[in-house]
Amino acid sequence: MKLMTTIICSTLMISLSHAQQRGIVNNTDSPHAILKSIDIGDCQWTDGFWADKYQLCEEVMVPHMGTLLKGDIGHAYNNFKIAAGLKKGRAKGMWWHDGDFYKWMESAMYVYANSKDDKIIEEFDEIIDVIGKAQADDGYLSTPVMTRGVKRWSKVTHHELYNSGHLLTSACIHHRVTGKTNFLAIAIKHADYLYSVFKPQKEELARFGFNPSQIMGLAELYRTTKDKKYLELAEIFINMRGSVPVKEHPTVPYFFIGDQCQMRTPLRKETKAVGHAVLGMYLYSGAADVCAETGEKALMDALDRIWSDVVSKKMYITGALGQVHHGASGRYDMVHEAFQEDYMMPNATAYNETCGNVANAMFNWRMLGLKGESKYADIMELVLYNSALVGISDDGTHYFYANPLRMNHGTRDYSDTESAARESYIECFCCPPNLVRTIAKVSGWAYSLSSNGVAVNLYGGNRLDTKLLDGSKIQLTQDTRYPWDGAVKITMQECKEAPFEMMVRIPAWAQGSKIRLNGKEAGVEAKPGTYATIERKWKKGDVVALDMPMDITLVEGHPRIEEVRNQAAITRGPVVYCIETPDLPDNTGILDVYLPADVKLKAHYRQQFLGGLTTLSGNVLLRSDKKEGMYRTMTKPEWKTVDTTFIPYYAWCNRGQSEMTVWMPIVWE
Ligand SMILES: [Zn+2]
Repeated sequence: MKLMTTIICSTLMISLSHAQQRGIVNNTDSPHAILKSIDIGDCQWTDGFWADKYQLCEEVMVPHMGTLLKGDIGHAYNNFKIAAGLKKGRAKGMWWHDGDFYKWMESAMYVYANSKDDKIIEEFDEIIDVIGKAQADDGYLSTPVMTRGVKRWSKVTHHELYNSGHLLTSACIHHRVTGKTNFLAIAIKHADYLYSVFKPQKEELARFGFNPSQIMGLAELYRTTKDKKYLELAEIFINMRGSVPVKEHPTVPYFFIGDQCQMRTPLRKETKAVGHAVLGMYLYSGAADVCAETGEKALMDALDRIWSDVVSKKMYITGALGQVHHGASGRYDMVHEAFQEDYMMPNATAYNETCGNVANAMFNWRMLGLKGESKYADIMELVLYNSALVGISDDGTHYFYANPLRMNHGTRDYSDTESAARESYIECFCCPPNLVRTIAKVSGWAYSLSSNGVAVNLYGGNRLDTKLLDGSKIQLTQDTRYPWDGAVKITMQECKEAPFEMMVRIPAWAQGSKIRLNGKEAGVEAKPGTYATIERKWKKGDVVALDMPMDITLVEGHPRIEEVRNQAAITRGPVVYCIETPDLPDNTGILDVYLPADVKLKAHYRQQFLGGLTTLSGNVLLRSDKKEGMYRTMTKPEWKTVDTTFIPYYAWCNRGQSEMTVWMPIVWE
């Protein structure tokens, strides 16, 4: 028995030494994760949609954002220099601006993983040196608090732990990509400080960490260092939520109590998504990371309940989250940038913060690892093509913070975060680097590793060069014009001789998909909403061909969504379309646009238009009779029929300020 144990242990050691440890979320050793991450850089885009977006990200988005944040517009690097005593003044920008800078650093690390451009490392050594000098001797680090004469841990809205979380995550990614420990050392010193402050779980600190990127950051630091106290601290931050009475407190403004911060109900007892959408999705994402390590059933059950609530009652057709800027929860708490009641889905006033949308993909990426079910990858994909990508312009330099599904001018006032057109800089800069780091890392989400094989999560021209969990080498290529075309060809370039599985995701919308292997029926069902699994002895040159019908579909909402009754949206594959005023006659108001129910839509790929995309052509009805007043006597409308073009929602507002809608009222003949 002892001998057997020794053999098993040494086998495990060998298997671990081969296994991936450099994933975006490094769940390789997580005992309760079914699908494991590939290493950062193992998948590279080669051609097509994501190759184009990634190229723009590498050449424009990341460098441009670096210029903003290192200069006097963004001021984030200046803030570190001030805290380090290298510059005079006080930190400018929002309390969470350090976190925005770390997110930009993280995105540059994903670029480095592909480009291996040493200039990035040289610059980062200098930046990390400044960050190290800014860090207090005891490990504390948050430049606004350090330079504005404010007491540590005096107000939750100072976002100290949000900055912490992005520091830990960014440092872990830096270590995984470069092997260097200079940034990681700062993160460890900081996390040790946090452990000393929060481990005692003092009542007066129980409301901190409400924008909880620190839970995800601590989980990654645990995975990087294997030091269990970081996992313990991650759990403490989950346990703290809802552990104290919901009432005003010197550390919390009155509008940040209760459901707004997911603090009225402890997470394990929660049945639905409530409050601030980003706070919520970060909490659920962090809890999913903890679940991957502990397998705790109560926590997992809560995440299952919340996932179903979000996806079936609170999510927009674009995958966006956060129906309102200001409102109230069903349990009478004020909420902001938040989830609302079931099926309450306003379009023009939807908040849908880019961070909330991106966090939806982050949560689903973690749930995919935990459960191995394709429905989570479906949501990741929905978000990526629609509610994430809409947050940045086609030239990669202008940003949306809020992402409504309809824009009709003159009906609302705009806040700092809601704007009629994309902005070159947003004072509250959380969203742009969150999106850019996501675009930079999509290739790391494209594949996962199963216990004996590989899962194909996302489609796009790419090359995968990685190792299966048993350490055997696998290389394959993917050729496709997806999402504009539904044909995907996966070619095995190198693999082990023994049988293993390839899991091929069939999106839930892809009814009638077919899979062939080396030109013949693959013998597996291409059931929408599942992974079709082909298990066999693979050899070099084997070709899996997936064919997904790219039908143009009119979609309606659940009848309880009042805001879309008798309206339709248009989808093709994973892409949601919209109609925008540059494609309509001059002076057309978007509220005058109606869609004939029998509209005939045709798809056209246009290489030179808005970064290269597929438009749809068809006709709409424009209502030309004008009426006044809040309520009017109904008469038969006067219609004008016009031929027009529908563009992907993500591409709107790249031709100047415009009006736009995803949902259009239907006219039945
Ligand atoms: Zn944001």
